[in-house]
Amino acid sequence: MAKKIFAFPNVSTPSRPVIFTDKCKGCNLCVEVCPVDVYIPHPEKGKAPIILHPEECWYCGCCVGACNIEGAIKFNWPLQQRGYWKNKATGKVSRV
Ligand code: SF4
Ligand code: SF4
Repeated sequence: MAKKIFAFPNVSTPSRPVIFTDKCKGCNLCVEVCPVDVYIPHPEKGKAPIILHPEECWYCGCCVGACNIEGAIKFNWPLQQRGYWKNKATGKVSRV
């Protein structure tokens, strides 16, 4: 008898480490490189992976770096890590 397995993304956390765009081809390279298994492959071939454990993300960037399709996956930094420095003299904005 075949077993059915269900996976439910954790929606209780507001964090969403990455955003997949329409350019994603569902190759699952990002799923394979993630060291903490934030994603699982989508059951439908060609669709973007499912973010199953968003709160586990280390923001290491491996998934974004592994993707070969420009613009398919974008980092979504958590609010507390979006700070930046602004040079008063030059007005130049930078992250440190
Ligand atoms: S984001 Fe990139 S690496 Fe991940 S499934 Fe989509 S195309 Fe593949
Ligand atoms: S940033 Fe790192 S830990 Fe977070 S989902 Fe991507 S590979 Fe996984």
